[in-house]
Amino acid sequence: MKKLGKYSMGLGDRFGHQGHAQLKAIIEAGKKGVEITPVWNKSNREHMIIGTNPQDVRIEADTVTKNAGFKKPYYVDADHINLDTVDKFTGSSDFFTMDVASYIGKRADESEINRFLEAAGKYTGKLEVPGVKKPIKCSMVQLHNIAEIYLFAARKAGEIYRKIENSKGAGNFVTEVSMDEVAKPQTPVELFFILGMLGIEGIPIQTIAPKFSGRFNKGVDYAGDPLKFANEFEEDLMVVTHAIKEFGLPENLKISVHSGSDKFALYHHIGSIIRKYDKGIHLKTAGTTWLEEVIGLAEAGGEALDFVKEIYVKSLEKIDELCAPYADVIDINIDSLPSGSEVAGWNSKKFAGSLRHITGNPEYNPNIRQLIHVAYKLAAQEMDTWFMLLEEHEEVVGGCVYDNIYKRHISRLFDIR
Ligand SMILES: [Zn+2]
Repeated sequence: MKKLGKYSMGLGDRFGHQGHAQLKAIIEAGKKGVEITPVWNKSNREHMIIGTNPQDVRIEADTVTKNAGFKKPYYVDADHINLDTVDKFTGSSDFFTMDVASYIGKRADESEINRFLEAAGKYTGKLEVPGVKKPIKCSMVQLHNIAEIYLFAARKAGEIYRKIENSKGAGNFVTEVSMDEVAKPQTPVELFFILGMLGIEGIPIQTIAPKFSGRFNKGVDYAGDPLKFANEFEEDLMVVTHAIKEFGLPENLKISVHSGSDKFALYHHIGSIIRKYDKGIHLKTAGTTWLEEVIGLAEAGGEALDFVKEIYVKSLEKIDELCAPYADVIDINIDSLPSGSEVAGWNSKKFAGSLRHITGNPEYNPNIRQLIHVAYKLAAQEMDTWFMLLEEHEEVVGGCVYDNIYKRHISRLFDIR
């Protein structure tokens, strides 16, 4: 069975040019004693917006690992797929993030609900989860309620899983289930029973992406109380460990943190909790690499700086259209966005400083950062120039990508230098 390593990282590379710089960060961590499995992920939404196809990601991952002589496992993740979109990913992916968010809240048949209640009813009352201080209480009524919200989604996950299994063969791919793109976070007790439903479905799930409380906005830091998050994360971790035993799930099942890039307020907590219990983690980062491309080109100056300024101006014009698909995962204060004419006068340092995620730098502007984060479509519309600039300034851009992944993400999460 393809078994995902203890630590893994989802690396998004929308334009397929930074795989080598990302891999360099993974290799550097390995030299410091932290083995991280790289997973190149790209969602159907990103493929549609840019005009790429899943095979492109496979080619990139195979090429950069071969060129670097990287002999350890790596994966290509069909990110956020569902029954409608999975088919075009089956050939090139060996990691599937099955997104069941749109099925949550739809009601399963009463007979299915009753079958689940019969199987899981024994866990009602006081559920003692080792490591969780107070017993988790769940009455039969609450369990029925949880089944009404989540059972249909779990059944759909089973359907998607079996569709992939039919075409790829059991054990030839890694399975993740994501439910992060929903309005309401799942509680630890809900997570326990969701894992039970997935176990009953026979899905060999290796990573689960719950929605946590607080906001996980794209490309910027966590908005919420980090200590509250730490408690919730620790409880979820205990629940996952318990569910593995109770429901016969793969022993390496771990938590996947989505929109995991740039959550600097949380890395110390996540890192110390997983080390305390000797558990794994999957940290999914994506668009942060595209932002580093823009920062790198801003630093390069000249026509590269002009090009990214132009992207900013156009992103202001098209702000509503660009933000719409990401409404739940961005939080832009429009009043804090400088005008196009103001930005036109900026030098490399000012533009890069506004965009680069250095908390404490007075130039850093999270509103600009989030807007550019969703504006990658504008570069895709001028793909020839964009690729020409990326290739011309490969070194400076690659340096930015590397620094971001290694210094701001890996070294903080895994407490290495
Ligand atoms: Zn996600």
